[in-house]
Amino acid sequence: MEITEVRIKLMEETSERLCAFCSLTIEGSFVVRDLKIIQGSKGVFVAMPSRKLTDRCPKCHFKNHLRATFCNQCGVRLRSERAIKDDDGRAKLYADIAHPINSACRDMIQQKVIAAYEEELIKSQQEGYICTYDDYGEESYASLDSTESEHEHHSSPSTEQPSSSRIHLETEDGKHHRIDPQSQPEANSNSSREHQQQKKKQESFGDGII
Ligand SMILES: [Zn+2]
Repeated sequence: MEITEVRIKLMEETSERLCAFCSLTIEGSFVVRDLKIIQGSKGVFVAMPSRKLTDRCPKCHFKNHLRATFCNQCGVRLRSERAIKDDDGRAKLYADIAHPINSACRDMIQQKVIAAYEEELIKSQQEGYICTYDDYGEESYASLDSTESEHEHHSSPSTEQPSSSRIHLETEDGKHHRIDPQSQPEANSNSSREHQQQKKKQESFGDGII
């Protein structure tokens, strides 16, 4: 078996034990992704792509990680220490998805990957370095639907907003003086100040329309 290409994605956080992700191409025909290069106590080593082992909740049949103390679906308490132990007595929590079945192959992969990793470290110092690993963004953060952007969305010009906010403001100014921002005491809590700012925002928006 010949490994014809190794692609490396270096981690930015060098303080972590995970140094890089890696993919292998076998004989120019078959790619295995998600190998990891990990900093161990005796130098870096290669971990095969793996998945978390799960078992099903006895109550709702939801799949939970073997380390879960409570069912993630129904919340029932699960027995701890239910993972199978390996020969060294360590709980088996992960299973390799793809792996060598003899030590010669393991050594060959290890050597190829570590050599490619060291080369990548040098390349990454050079100007215009581009990572060749196919990154699907698994490590990136999802963007939030924050309340702030939601607020902005609501106060942006729309067909319904102008008339309704105008009526609202007229009512406040005329009949309900208690909630007029001008008549509220200055030295108040932060929340009321925020409230005032929000109102001013609405007012200026209304003014623009008028
Ligand atoms: Zn459950």
